[in-house]
Amino acid sequence: MARAKITSVRGVKDILPEESPRWQRVEALARETFARYGYSEIRVPVFERTELFARSIGEETDIVNKEMYTFNDKGGESLTLRPEATASMCRAYVQHALYSQPGVAKLFCIGPMFRYERPQAGRLRQFHQIDAEAFGSLDPAVDAEVIVMLADFLSAAGLKDLSLQINNLGDAECRPAYARALQEFLRKETTNLGPEVQERVERNPLRFLDSKDPDHRAIIARAPTIDLHWNENCQKHLGAVCDRLKGAGIRFEVNPRLVRGLDYYCLTVFEVTSRNLGAQNAVCGGGRYDGLVEELGGPPTPAIGFAIGMERLLQLIGGEADESAAPASPLDAFLVPLGEKAAAEAFALAGELRKGGLRVDLAFGGGSMKSQMRRADRSGARYVLVLGEDEIAKGTVSLRDMRESRQEELPRAEALSKLLAGRR
Ligand code: ATP
Ligand code: MG
Repeated sequence: MARAKITSVRGVKDILPEESPRWQRVEALARETFARYGYSEIRVPVFERTELFARSIGEETDIVNKEMYTFNDKGGESLTLRPEATASMCRAYVQHALYSQPGVAKLFCIGPMFRYERPQAGRLRQFHQIDAEAFGSLDPAVDAEVIVMLADFLSAAGLKDLSLQINNLGDAECRPAYARALQEFLRKETTNLGPEVQERVERNPLRFLDSKDPDHRAIIARAPTIDLHWNENCQKHLGAVCDRLKGAGIRFEVNPRLVRGLDYYCLTVFEVTSRNLGAQNAVCGGGRYDGLVEELGGPPTPAIGFAIGMERLLQLIGGEADESAAPASPLDAFLVPLGEKAAAEAFALAGELRKGGLRVDLAFGGGSMKSQMRRADRSGARYVLVLGEDEIAKGTVSLRDMRESRQEELPRAEALSKLLAGRR
């Protein structure tokens, strides 16, 4: 009896061979672009101590409250699959004393993130982010540079019709006053919304602004906004960022209602959205988090970064990129051996061709000339090399050019140099 199939977990996808060239291209583009801005790659683990995320992202956030994949390992330690990379990058920055190097430490990381969310278009439980972070400077020019780099990358990836929104979430001085004003407003407005919402308003009123509930959105639309509370520092910081962006020809909009779903942000926050994505319209989110490194036991270190959602990015690039995709078959040559002895020689010949840099495959498992030629044809390889008893006896190979439908019998060495000469 056939055994039941085991399928992947809900909200988790395979990236199949025909899709991976697109992923590789976008990742390569990120690496090239970020390198031009002085960024280096860091690869942080996919799981960490739960406390890292609880302490940095914030206990009241949806991510920590509802979305984390948390489990006890066999030693009884609470671990969590990373829901984002910033916290891990800060941990690594502190742990390896990356602050002892001079200048701004610019790091990026590409990889899977895990959030227990309701799977739907543009929302997965394992998704991928490209994450960039700059540590060690309060200069608003760094904020602007980070955003310019992001815009540079998104436009090189071929994205159009994007909207960039920027806000300033206040600093340690002006944010508390705003939080109080907001809290007062929300206390009056949320009396009918149940104890959970009311507790949230008491503990962390700014979190309410991140709610996606339509009733909450209606209240948020009337709520006081942070711009009324910006102190001089925040105004100057935002002004300087905006000036630099304008100078760089970047289009954006200041939106005083923009907040982010993580507690650690201060001053600059930003989000890139697209009209072409439907409900899950955010492609990238980012912001400044000047207190986080210290919160994680490091020296006071201002920092700013962003995370791009790969799946949404690729969805926007859509078919466009596929036209420039690699040819359907990556093979240069396919070997067809007829008989046992030929199979051994074809195996060795494939090795030589591969050493020479060619992409080569061969028919395994024997079979008739006809069935092997069918396989060769389906492989899409430009050249097919037939090794029969005749060819073995003569030290030759029949070389068929599939594009030109031409065949010739050549001494082995000659066929080899011909193929190597035509190498891509
Ligand atoms: P959203 O508002 O869509 O939930 P977010 O604010 O939770 O986004 P961030 O934590 O800022 O998202 O992550 C940055 C980017 O990662 C998002 O802009 C989005 O493109 C992508 N992203 C976040 N969560 C998911 C998910 N569950 N599935 C796919 N992509 C996601
Ligand atoms: Mg979210």
